[in-house]
Amino acid sequence: MEFKKITDFIKDLFQEERVPLSVPVFMGNEKKYLNECIDTTFVSSVGQFVDRFEKDVAEYVGCKRAVVCVSGTNALHISLMLAGVERDDEVLTQPLTFIATCNALSYIGAHPVFIDVDMDTMGFSPSAMKSWLEKNAEIRKGECFNKNTGRRVKACIPMHTFGIPVKIDKLAELCAEWHIELVEDAAESIGSFYKGKHTGTFGKIGALSFNGNKTITTGGGGMMLFNDEELATYAKHITTQAKIPHRWEFKHDHIGYNYRMPNINAALGCAQLENIERYVDSKRETAHAYADFFRNDPNIQFFEEPADCRSNYWLSAVVMKDHEAQLEFLEYTNDNGVMTRPIWELMNRLPMFENCENDGLKNAIYFADRVVNLPSSVRLKK
Ligand SMILES: *Cc1c(COP(=O)(O)O)cnc(C)c1O
Repeated sequence: MEFKKITDFIKDLFQEERVPLSVPVFMGNEKKYLNECIDTTFVSSVGQFVDRFEKDVAEYVGCKRAVVCVSGTNALHISLMLAGVERDDEVLTQPLTFIATCNALSYIGAHPVFIDVDMDTMGFSPSAMKSWLEKNAEIRKGECFNKNTGRRVKACIPMHTFGIPVKIDKLAELCAEWHIELVEDAAESIGSFYKGKHTGTFGKIGALSFNGNKTITTGGGGMMLFNDEELATYAKHITTQAKIPHRWEFKHDHIGYNYRMPNINAALGCAQLENIERYVDSKRETAHAYADFFRNDPNIQFFEEPADCRSNYWLSAVVMKDHEAQLEFLEYTNDNGVMTRPIWELMNRLPMFENCENDGLKNAIYFADRVVNLPSSVRLKK
């Protein structure tokens, strides 16, 4: 299909001459709740919206407890710590992700091992992990070790790419079998369900992001999802400077972090969450419109959710026929008012991670060379 026809279609779909990739939409109680924060002076670390936002998200995703953070990256950092990851451990993850996943495990001094993604999800592949483990790992005294490096393989952190759920039930089984903790990077997948269960609730801990470009935003922010009450209580403690509650004393029993989301951000989050189903419906409608539009195009494949799941379609994506077509398409669309982006550079191609072990990454390389994200902002009904 001619690129001009595509940009015209997208401008028409969004009813705009210049179409951004993904921008936030405020259509509900945002101003009201923000004003409440200002009127009551509770803009910072104390206030009712923090507790409410945690309760509301936990209820929406169907987990026992949720704990806010100042960013999704922080949420991943603390999640991996709470999963028991320590310096010089290895963490299995996908090379096709946003840098935050790898940064978070690096803060602890752990090392990523890059496992390939599945062709039908663009996310972490349980079958690739199984092959890698069978070849390279062994269980010693109830823990998993990499036979080549001698390091402990403590955790696995899959990422639900663009909101499309990975095969998380298979992965959970495999992790249990190999004594590996499962932490989900669900930063892109609030509103995405796998077999009716919300992403981020399958593993020991799941992490969400509320950055400005995500499905709902708090300006900046993140959250950890728990089914273990005790672990959630501990997470709250260490993300709030590990202060022992007392009316006036400053006593702390652990190295703590100042990772608590301010009330003013949580207020925004509460208002955004009230409309999440409308946002997800709109993104899914956009995805279906793209899917129909590209249906019979032999050179451009719209990436659709697999059966058995509901993707939030946070960012719609197409797979071009080769790398050259990817570059041409990016150039044409960005020159002509339609903002598009390639998928991330593979983590194992970045200088910090280029010496990390990987399994060949055939599918990840295929996608890195071909995937382009299309404009995906929530469309307000005019
Ligand atoms: C957005 C995102 C995060 C978290 O980002 P923050 O900006 O720190 O909230 C983590 N992982 C992935 C895959 C993301 O897309």
